[in-house]
Amino acid sequence: KREQLELLATVEAVTKDGVTLRLAGNISSVKELKVALKYGAGGVGLFRTEFLYMDRSSFPTEEEQFDVYKQVVEQVGDGSVVIRTLDIGGDKHLDYFQLPEEQNPFLGYRAIRISLDHKDMFKTQLTAIVRASAFGKVKVMFPMISSVEEVQAAKAVLEEVKQELADRGVPFDRNLPVGIMIEVPAAVMIADLLAEEVDFFSIGTNDLVQYVLAVDRMNEQIAHMYHPYHPAVLRMIRMTVEAAADAGIQVSVCGEMAADERSLPLWLELGISELSMSPQALLKVKHRALNTIASEARTVAKACFRHRTSLETEEKLSAFVRRSG
Ligand code: PEP
Ligand code: MG
Repeated sequence: KREQLELLATVEAVTKDGVTLRLAGNISSVKELKVALKYGAGGVGLFRTEFLYMDRSSFPTEEEQFDVYKQVVEQVGDGSVVIRTLDIGGDKHLDYFQLPEEQNPFLGYRAIRISLDHKDMFKTQLTAIVRASAFGKVKVMFPMISSVEEVQAAKAVLEEVKQELADRGVPFDRNLPVGIMIEVPAAVMIADLLAEEVDFFSIGTNDLVQYVLAVDRMNEQIAHMYHPYHPAVLRMIRMTVEAAADAGIQVSVCGEMAADERSLPLWLELGISELSMSPQALLKVKHRALNTIASEARTVAKACFRHRTSLETEEKLSAFVRRSG
């Protein structure tokens, strides 16, 4: 089965009735990029840079980061690379960076909150990212955004970095696209306002599900309550897509939901054409696309958006996969 799937690596992800999907990889290292490319990723939809900061004894330097970002960008070639700024806190820690003991780490000192609070570190990372944009299609993305002020503050630091590089005559992409993760319910509710600030959204369903349902994504005891197909989650995703469409900006999905082949009808119905997922899931999702009639999938999804329970949607989507073969 795996070997058969591997034959699909170079095939485009197109539904039986001609809807094309762009499948990208979520990566955290150059090694993972190689796997993503082997399985036919058209780009990187999420580069989780925190792994560059882990398993070492001090912050990576600008040069060290630049070197990795450049390698990724060059190896991806024509496709784009979405580089997400540091997302530590929550469950991810650095040995050399003392984070406070917190009652609720996932509601605490995390991601963009840390970056905005440690401007030197943030600038170092942004400088490395912006420099890498001279070598291919780089997009920068901020995690855990929950307000317009945060986006504006992050963009201001980015502007400073670009100005400094310009002054030094260092080449970079002047139109470097800027995007944010939509993974906090507040961001969904103000998605129209956030859309005025950025070039793209990427929906992070892993955190979005946890925050919408108040179900800790790491807590085994309540894992049975962690429902990506909960009507509240589906409505949040739809709101985000509608806000992005109204503003004319791109929206993709990069959480684990994108890797679940059963979700495909939802994306087709919402008009989401870009999905980013762990490299291991790429071929399975592509296979699903190739076996799907988008018009039928949309009918199924329309019903899902009206369901009152997660279970109904999950069953409906699973049955559709079985029927499609
Ligand atoms: C997410 O939250 O869905 C996501 C893609 O980011 P991470 O899993 O790294 O938090
Ligand atoms: Mg997240």
